[in-house]
Amino acid sequence: MTMPTATPQTFEFQAEIKQLLDIVIHSLYTEKEIFVRELVSNASDSLEKMRHLSVTEKSVFDDKLELEINITTDDKAKTFTIQDFGIGMTQAELVENLGTIAHSGSKAFVKALGEGDQKAAGLIGQFGVGFYSAFMVAKSVKVYTHSWRESEPGLVWTSNGAGSFTIEDSPGERRGCKIVVELKDECSEFSQDWRIREIIEKYSAFVSFPINLNGKRVNTVQALWLRSKSEIKEEDYDEFYKFQSHDSEKPLLRLHFSADAPLSINALLFVPRHNTERLGLSRLEPSVALYCRKVLIDSRPKDLLPEWLRFLKGVVDSEDLPLNISRETMQDRSLVEKLNRVITKRFIKFLDEESVNHPVEYLDFYREFGVFLKEGAALDFTHKDALTKLLRFDSSLTEKGKSTSLADYVSRMGADQKEIYYLVGPNRESIEAGPYLEGFKARNLEVLFCYETVDEYVMNNVREFDGKKLTAADHADVKLSDQPKVEGGLGEAETQALVAALKETLGERVSDVRASTRLVDSPALALNSDKFGSPHMRRIMKAMNKDGAKEPVRVDLEINPAHAVMKHLSSLLVSSPEKARLVAEQVLDNALISAGLLDDASAMVKRLYKILETA
Ligand code: ADP
Ligand code: MG
Repeated sequence: MTMPTATPQTFEFQAEIKQLLDIVIHSLYTEKEIFVRELVSNASDSLEKMRHLSVTEKSVFDDKLELEINITTDDKAKTFTIQDFGIGMTQAELVENLGTIAHSGSKAFVKALGEGDQKAAGLIGQFGVGFYSAFMVAKSVKVYTHSWRESEPGLVWTSNGAGSFTIEDSPGERRGCKIVVELKDECSEFSQDWRIREIIEKYSAFVSFPINLNGKRVNTVQALWLRSKSEIKEEDYDEFYKFQSHDSEKPLLRLHFSADAPLSINALLFVPRHNTERLGLSRLEPSVALYCRKVLIDSRPKDLLPEWLRFLKGVVDSEDLPLNISRETMQDRSLVEKLNRVITKRFIKFLDEESVNHPVEYLDFYREFGVFLKEGAALDFTHKDALTKLLRFDSSLTEKGKSTSLADYVSRMGADQKEIYYLVGPNRESIEAGPYLEGFKARNLEVLFCYETVDEYVMNNVREFDGKKLTAADHADVKLSDQPKVEGGLGEAETQALVAALKETLGERVSDVRASTRLVDSPALALNSDKFGSPHMRRIMKAMNKDGAKEPVRVDLEINPAHAVMKHLSSLLVSSPEKARLVAEQVLDNALISAGLLDDASAMVKRLYKILETA
């Protein structure tokens, strides 16, 4: 038993303390509000210790108390008070725990429990500086306490954080600690009920013991991610999701998992129902929160997940993280990187399983969020291959509303097919109606359909799958096998003459004219061989007003010698050269329209009326 202390005893803080206090107060934490989190965590730790002790100890002081945390604010007196009915402290413990900055009582306690029980202890504090964060906001701090040991006296520890503290008797204390923070004038916000509620909800919403603020319970949602899946009901998950992500709808997908190696991780991840970026709202911010033992470290950690996973919501909790270190000072980057790698891999695996086990749901997911997977496939080198497998496309062989993976496409490829073909266009109808598909259809070659502006870029970056090159079907370089000649078309000589006439008439507007191997039903098509890549890319450049796109477009024109329009044009060359010129120009413009390359339609409209006059 410690001798009763009649008059206040003064103690000097440990030698290094002034310096350390200075660091804690001025630079360790970026936000003052953190002190609430730290004091709540300490109270929770103390209650956790009490829970353990009550199992083994027969006699405990004041043993009818609830294991709860009571916080009160007084905006007149400008104080913040936090009381727990935990284990409290003896005089020796006050000196040791609150007089020595680098000492962590919690750490010693965990050690005493023995290695095996470490997790059971569920303790938050590990680093022994949290308590001192109170001095960021305090003029003075008083710790009223009574140890769980019957024979110890009630005590009060007092300090203004400036180098020394006092301890004196304080008869009549309850078990545990009551910490009264007398706030600095500029920190009076922390004596406001609403402000403290906000902070507790932000950082300490999942602490296992009840937290009452001015008599009202604040934390009502459980830290679901730490419980075993089998005991969690669907509604619990939904409720948790809505609470945590501020969404009013249920989530679309959920992944709850834990891992022990290489890091201890408990994660609960959700995909929301809607992709708000797609709705034109602003770019999503990372919003999977990072916790250490139920206590928030960072609600928007930037590097926890790759950029393309910014649509995920939920929680990652790792015991291996240093809680007390704020995000700017988070030194152990490599720890976060490791977390990133493990979680990302696990989530990709989850999607892969979903795509096999629940293909319909996977497609629903893909329609909303596929664009993020594409972004990852195009930009995230580490996960590129895994993500490419997850991509889905409409194709010339899938029914409307169905889609295919690249692996399935490859499995359908004929023996001679070397490349994977795709076409970019606004929708299925317009691609099917355009001239580009016919040649592939006639040869039974499957073509993937891409509808999004980013697809061009994605396909270019992904480049290949399973050793097969991804090739735009409307690119001039694509060579298709010979088809049997259609009866009744123009002969070789007539075709040559027509090609030559077109070259001459169209002049600068074309870089080449030739008889096509890919046309079946259409008279002509325009192929882009220039530096803008595809028509789609050109449209994007134009929208962005890149200089190059202002130059008039030059295309390769391919004609279909079997088509009635070409046969007619061929005869006009002799009978009515003036009319032939109009038709030739019009054929090119029509091809440009199909390709989405006609920049200005006014000349075309004028010409069309001229043609109509003679019709
Ligand atoms: P940590 O929590 O990382 O150990 P702190 O600086 O937050 O470091 O606290 C230092 C020590 O003070 C704790 O380890 C604990 O032994 C003691 N302590 C702080 N708050 C309380 C409390 N409310 N009840 C009992 N002991 C406490
Ligand atoms: Mg602590």
